[in-house]
Amino acid sequence: MSDCIFCSIVAGDIPSSIVYEDEDVLAFLDITQVTKGHTLVVPKKHFRNLLEMDEVASAALFAKIPVIAQHLKEQLGASGVNLISNMEASAGQTVFHTHVHLLPRFDDKDGLHISFDANEPDFPVLAQLADQLRMETK
Ligand code: AMP
Ligand code: ZN
Repeated sequence: MSDCIFCSIVAGDIPSSIVYEDEDVLAFLDITQVTKGHTLVVPKKHFRNLLEMDEVASAALFAKIPVIAQHLKEQLGASGVNLISNMEASAGQTVFHTHVHLLPRFDDKDGLHISFDANEPDFPVLAQLADQLRMETK
């Protein structure tokens, strides 16, 4: 897709620091390196984000995630890895070509802070919400 920076990276038109490449997927270092080894895994084909991808395309992308994450963890001596994929601007997406962030973790000293505001569980509300959201098996 023209005007897509990640399509330009996939095409080799702009430089990137490639970690892994195959027929379907490219993984390269995020220029901001939120933690050491911060990597973006993208499908070579353009999709706006994961919400646009069907089962086949998303399966091809996610099939490679464990092996790339394991490789980063081992090579960098990380203690863990976070996986984040922002979908749409309200979720923090700034580049509109599907990408999965892999963020190697180095215990308490890597500067990345992810926190959730946990609420007390309300089981009747959970049951009602599940009734509303329950899906047919696909
Ligand atoms: P998001 O905010 O989830 O859409 O993430 C987009 C990411 O793309 C950001 O973390 C940017 O640092 C990263 N990024 C933008 N341009 C480049 C580039 N040319 N090479 C590598 N990473 C990039
Ligand atoms: Zn693209």
